[in-house]
Amino acid sequence: MAIFKGAGVAIVTPMNENEEVNYEKLEELVEWQIEQGTDAIVIVGTTGESSTLTTEEHSDVIRAAVRFAKHRVPVIAGTGSNCTREAIHLSEEAEEAGADGLLAVTPYYNKATQGGLIRYYTEIAEAVKLPIIMYNVPGRTGCNIMPETAATLFKNVENIVGIKEATGSLAQASKLMYLTDGKIDLYSGEDGIVVRGAKMHQTGALNSHQILVMPTQTMREEDRDYAVAFSVPADDPSILYIYGRQASDTRKLEASKVDVGNANYGGQEVIIIFEDTFVPYKNVYMLGEIDFTGMLVERFAGYHRQSYGGCKVGNGDVLIGASQMAAECNGCAKASHIKDKIIEMIHLNETLFSCGIACSCEGSPTRAGNYQIDMLLANVCKQNVTRLPYEIARLAQDIAGGLMVTMPSDADFTSDEVGEWCRKLMVGDARYSVEDRQRILRLIEAMTIGSVAVGYLTESMHGAGSPQAQRIMIGRQANMEAKKALARRLCGIDPDGLF
Ligand SMILES: Cc1cc2nc3c(=O)[nH]c(=O)nc-3n(C[C@H](O)[C@H](O)[C@H](O)COP(=O)(O)OP(=O)(O)OC[C@H]3O[C@@H](n4cnc5c(N)ncnc54)[C@H](O)[C@@H]3O)c2cc1C
Repeated sequence: MAIFKGAGVAIVTPMNENEEVNYEKLEELVEWQIEQGTDAIVIVGTTGESSTLTTEEHSDVIRAAVRFAKHRVPVIAGTGSNCTREAIHLSEEAEEAGADGLLAVTPYYNKATQGGLIRYYTEIAEAVKLPIIMYNVPGRTGCNIMPETAATLFKNVENIVGIKEATGSLAQASKLMYLTDGKIDLYSGEDGIVVRGAKMHQTGALNSHQILVMPTQTMREEDRDYAVAFSVPADDPSILYIYGRQASDTRKLEASKVDVGNANYGGQEVIIIFEDTFVPYKNVYMLGEIDFTGMLVERFAGYHRQSYGGCKVGNGDVLIGASQMAAECNGCAKASHIKDKIIEMIHLNETLFSCGIACSCEGSPTRAGNYQIDMLLANVCKQNVTRLPYEIARLAQDIAGGLMVTMPSDADFTSDEVGEWCRKLMVGDARYSVEDRQRILRLIEAMTIGSVAVGYLTESMHGAGSPQAQRIMIGRQANMEAKKALARRLCGIDPDGLF
């Protein structure tokens, strides 16, 4: 039977001004907790200054707590130590004092091995008859009781009955419950928050290690509960993913990779649903600080908008290369208007690159030591990204020709019925094979209207905020007063006699 069910409170050890234990206050605390309905008192745990009391004080405080509680609720005594002999001594003293159970933290600082942990807990358990709860708090001790170790101890040592898990890892706790057939008493020792909600667009979540969540707008008093920023492992069991549908995505399931366009890589989008996801405080970075939500969003979005001046340009380079190859396959790469269109694509793409470089170069160091990009130029960069890739894509489609969308599938090219026709009709410039030509046209198709257009076009439009979000920021950052002053100076409006 469990030592207790419900919530046990780890109480502080109150001290007098002269640094002696204040037993009067301790009695008040125990009395108040029992009155308020606590299910157990945990005495001289971490909160009770276990690591700074002397050995004598430690045992005296346990004796006092047992006396004050008068068996109305169980008293669990913290008796772990990084010295096994001391842990055994404190455990024996707690048993003699009449404690109902022990909470034994792992040896801290020593970095005990898993085998060492088995010996540590077994030796304590053999010295007393009291039931023991192991305390696993690697964030404080630098030592993690692995689920296999905890399960071995639970199965082999009669009076090891439970564990206080403070790793914050639901996966670890779930594994331990699995290994012990749900029989070990599991107490959560980790404080944190529980979040519920959904995120509609998330690129690459399925191949990430962590999901990072933060506010997306300036928040007001009534939004305080939503002003949270946190990270959570992507494989947390409470997270549900709904996979996004993309243009031509079933082509990826076909045997031939020719029609995919991008033969080697792919991206994915998901909707993420948090179903009561527990996040330990150590992974919570904002909790209700509404005054800072606006600044956080502006800065994060600024960096995101800057980075598009690099990554979307890389996509553009691919599309320009594919367009040049398509023109060569078509046999018209030397035509003056084709050359001019390719030059225009380069010009547009390098304009985006210039914006990305400019907002980085114009950045300035912050007092914290990191670099802050130029906010106005980062928003101008992203605003251009919402437009110029579409023009580059339009020119690519112009150069590729209609064959890009009327071309048969690769299965037809190899079929007995029509394969010969397909291969004959698709012959272009001798430098490229028919299959080369298929692949180039499919790549342009994928990037401009297929699944790769998700990243190249729609994400250029909406990723890091839809166009209007940048226009609002451009309006705010433009320093209109300085521009007006320039105009005033030139046209002679100078009521204050400044010029
Ligand atoms: C491919 C893709 C990948 C993405 N990846 C990520 C990611 O990895 N991580 C991430 O956090 N986000 C990601 N996003 C989300 C992106 O930041 C949002 O799509 C973007 O902020 C626009 O929001 P929305 O799509 O909900 O459009 P909406 O907000 O619905 O906007 C649609 C239109 O309505 C207008 N509008 C919206 N609200 C108002 C209003 N109140 N008043 C007037 N007009 C309004 C907008 O200006 C826009 O023209 C991604 C989006 C896409 C498309």
